[in-house]
Amino acid sequence: MPLDVATLFNKLSSGLEKITLEEGHERYIVEEDLLLSRAQLRSYARAYVKERSAPREERIKAVAMRREDGSLIKQRDPRDISYCVRRHLFTSHARYVKAVSAMREAASAWERACDVRFVHERSLDSHEGERDALLHAWGVKPRPANTVQFVVREAPFQRPIAAGFLPVDDIGLIDRHILLCQPWFADDLIFDPVGILRHELGHVLGFRHEQIHGDAPPACPREHILYTSARTYPLTAYDPKSVMHYYCAESGTRSLQLTEVDRLGAQKLYGPPRASAR
Ligand SMILES: [Zn+2]
Repeated sequence: MPLDVATLFNKLSSGLEKITLEEGHERYIVEEDLLLSRAQLRSYARAYVKERSAPREERIKAVAMRREDGSLIKQRDPRDISYCVRRHLFTSHARYVKAVSAMREAASAWERACDVRFVHERSLDSHEGERDALLHAWGVKPRPANTVQFVVREAPFQRPIAAGFLPVDDIGLIDRHILLCQPWFADDLIFDPVGILRHELGHVLGFRHEQIHGDAPPACPREHILYTSARTYPLTAYDPKSVMHYYCAESGTRSLQLTEVDRLGAQKLYGPPRASAR
């Protein structure tokens, strides 16, 4: 029986877990660590139905995304991807310190892989006012002083472990964050917490989950498709050990390191790293 958008949307919206970071801004947890608004979930259902009806050879085989005009979706100022770590939103100083250090280490892995630079604006960590005052308009460059592109913060949820965002054109202020949820701080977390951040920063750079690649075995059933194949771009061959691969069906890793294939894909989008990268 053909799947219709309304049925799928109703099923997803009633079955998916939700989190509410701010009143009036509910987000559905999709594909483990992507957070979608209700309107975005409807587009997701529409894309899923369209994708299912496409001939097999046109189905997704992608790690990056592209726009309707064919241009690739990526960071617009990749040498200045700025963030601050909102100290007052952490429940302890130790957690804040852990987040700062893990962000630095994760960012450094990408800086060594391709020509990007993450800038931690430490002076803004102590800003306790409105979040929106910290964030500049999307894509503006050079960015205004005392603003950042995204914030890193602790969140009170048990799921997901962490969440990032994709650098899509219509990203709202409210979604420009990396959320570190409660499991990320736990001593018994089975994943490397720095690896989790390498993965989230991969999303921030524009990379999708590796297991949606057309050549991946169909064994991670909950992982599916956010955009249609028309909006994706095959950067590399399928890599079961990719930092962007979930830990499922004997693929993925708990350390979430960047592989040679990840580096190759990152360089296709951003070019080779500069000699100065740490
Ligand atoms: Zn992810």
